[in-house]
Amino acid sequence: MTYDAIGTWIRYLADLLSRSAVDHGELVTFLAAGTLVHESIFVTGNLCYTLISYVPICRQRWKIQKGVNPSTELTHKAVLHIYLGRLFIQLPAIVGYFCLWKHCGGSMHASLPSAMQCTWQLLVCALGTEFMFYSAHRMFHHPSIYKYFHKQHHEFKSPIGISSEYAHVLEDLIVNLPSTLLPPVILGVHPLVLYLWLALRIWETVDAHSGLALPWSPYYLLPCFAGPLFHDFHHMATTKGAYGVLGLMDYIFGTDKEFKEHLLRRKHVEMDVNGKKAQVRAKELLRINM
Ligand SMILES: [Zn+2]
Ligand SMILES: [Zn+2]
Repeated sequence: MTYDAIGTWIRYLADLLSRSAVDHGELVTFLAAGTLVHESIFVTGNLCYTLISYVPICRQRWKIQKGVNPSTELTHKAVLHIYLGRLFIQLPAIVGYFCLWKHCGGSMHASLPSAMQCTWQLLVCALGTEFMFYSAHRMFHHPSIYKYFHKQHHEFKSPIGISSEYAHVLEDLIVNLPSTLLPPVILGVHPLVLYLWLALRIWETVDAHSGLALPWSPYYLLPCFAGPLFHDFHHMATTKGAYGVLGLMDYIFGTDKEFKEHLLRRKHVEMDVNGKKAQVRAKELLRINM
């Protein structure tokens, strides 16, 4: 696809949102487009990772906690919880985020941002999310409150994509929604930038919870991306750090120390299993040296 074709598509989508806002109102368009982006990435991502995990050779090669899987009951409970939460908690909360976005200059009729503007806005969103998610997530791990709220998310000792959105209502309202939505909403970004950010964030969290360390994950292109091994370790060893999304805040505060040691031990086991030749993958080494 040429740059011209991409540009045409982007202008078409922006025009579609603007026309829909005229016909159905900005709030309805905001909610409908957001739900479409959220659901399509969440469902497609989960389907892909589930299919991959059913192929024996893939499971053997890329499953992080080999042979450990959540029970069917827990998975069903999580799906029900997620969709009830979407309806009764997230939907009303997102109406609030819409009002804030409007207050900060957001509009369905805004002119398209330049590529440079879009890039820095996404970068600010990524850093804002890292800071907010790390701080609030770490606070929810405090022993005095952990068992009341965040323990629910950690019922998945070996996570799967679905578990990415399985959380206590209060955790959703204090950790997950603000860390994802406040940065773009406060910036009053163009709706297409908001939906692009949402798609990236949903994909990232489904990937981080997939339980699979796939070598072609596009997130490996980012030098500081923590990835599925990082968050899988967080679920397996609940009290041992690895709280962030990018791994940047964990690096600054030293809460990735035990993860790095775990990764090195994991490498040694692989080396023993594979005999003389160390099968150390460059992408994983990158994270050890982070
Ligand atoms: Zn946690
Ligand atoms: Zn998690």
